[in-house]
Amino acid sequence: MAKRDYYEVLGVAKGASADEIKRAYKQMAIKYHPDRNPGDKEAETKFKEATEAYDVLRDPEKRQRYDQFGFDGLSGAGGFNAQNMNMDDIFSMFGDLFEGMGFGGGFSGFGGFGGGGTRNSKPVYKGQDQRLRVDLTLNEIVNGTTKKFKLKKHVTCSHCHGSGSEDGNSSTCPTCKGSGYVIKTQQSFLGMMRTQAVCPECRGEGTVIKNKCTECGGEGIVMGEEIVEVNFPAGLANDMVLNVPGKGGAGRRNGVNGDLQIIIHELEDNTLVRDGNDLVYNLILPIPTAILGGTVEVPTVEGKAKITITPGTQPGTVLRLRGKGIPQVQGYNKGQKGDEVINISVYMPETLNKEEKEMVQKLAESENFKPTDSIKEKLMRKFKAIFD
Ligand SMILES: [Zn+2]
Ligand SMILES: [Zn+2]
Repeated sequence: MAKRDYYEVLGVAKGASADEIKRAYKQMAIKYHPDRNPGDKEAETKFKEATEAYDVLRDPEKRQRYDQFGFDGLSGAGGFNAQNMNMDDIFSMFGDLFEGMGFGGGFSGFGGFGGGGTRNSKPVYKGQDQRLRVDLTLNEIVNGTTKKFKLKKHVTCSHCHGSGSEDGNSSTCPTCKGSGYVIKTQQSFLGMMRTQAVCPECRGEGTVIKNKCTECGGEGIVMGEEIVEVNFPAGLANDMVLNVPGKGGAGRRNGVNGDLQIIIHELEDNTLVRDGNDLVYNLILPIPTAILGGTVEVPTVEGKAKITITPGTQPGTVLRLRGKGIPQVQGYNKGQKGDEVINISVYMPETLNKEEKEMVQKLAESENFKPTDSIKEKLMRKFKAIFD
């Protein structure tokens, strides 16, 4: 089914406020709520479509991505397809919104769905989540990247197309007569207790497969491989977890895929040290350059940059290249870049020959090489300012 524009689904304008969006979704939810439309597949589809639209538009970050990139902006992280979800999942996500709407109050109200007796939705199995640790270079972190991985995971059995049945047939469960649950009557200290439990024979499906698939043994999934492409946004950091919905293992019997969780491992860079979203470079100047000034090259993530050293630059001086750092990956300042911080050191020769020693001794006697009291005071003020 081709997806409709989320704003169109909820019937709101592109610039609609959060309140307008919430109100529009509530109206749709009341109209197409399964309690009001029992057994109506079209109403359920509409309800799910509205829920998916609401899930995106209520979240400022997802909404911004959707406004900018459309559905493509959501496929990487944080998007979900409500049509693949069962109603229980939806109510557990948005249950609080339905409170006080005449459906018996939130999630508990869902108990009444379907009349409290026969269930009309089969359980949907969720596949296993997969975890993956991925190395990223500083360059990949600054610019963002796309990578492909070959994952070993559960995939849908091609022999039975996920049904789990060798001949495509299933029959009504003899234990629960198709209802998916059984009533147990137990003697307890409170007297006879009747409890409802998921049918142990069909695990709530209401049907059993007599002739199980020879490839998957009736599970509908087998171990296999899949190539998964993952988009890494710019600005990630070590130990962050990137969630990629639906890229984990396949669910049993055509259930819902699990998720793929990617743990970011940031590789150390040879020249630049990361400090939050800033990058720090330690620039080592020869003594003559610090004294006389000049132009020097420094590495940045975008290549080399030229900076001017003013005559008489002190060791410990800090220069900033604005916006040459790492972009903020999420939150209020999303996309805003840090700086490259250049810390200036001056190299002191560790060995000198006789001639060099004489030159330095000569300099030591020279007037401008002796720090006066007023110069010491000035440098002390600068030093103290670091701690403010
Ligand atoms: Zn199979
Ligand atoms: Zn059963």
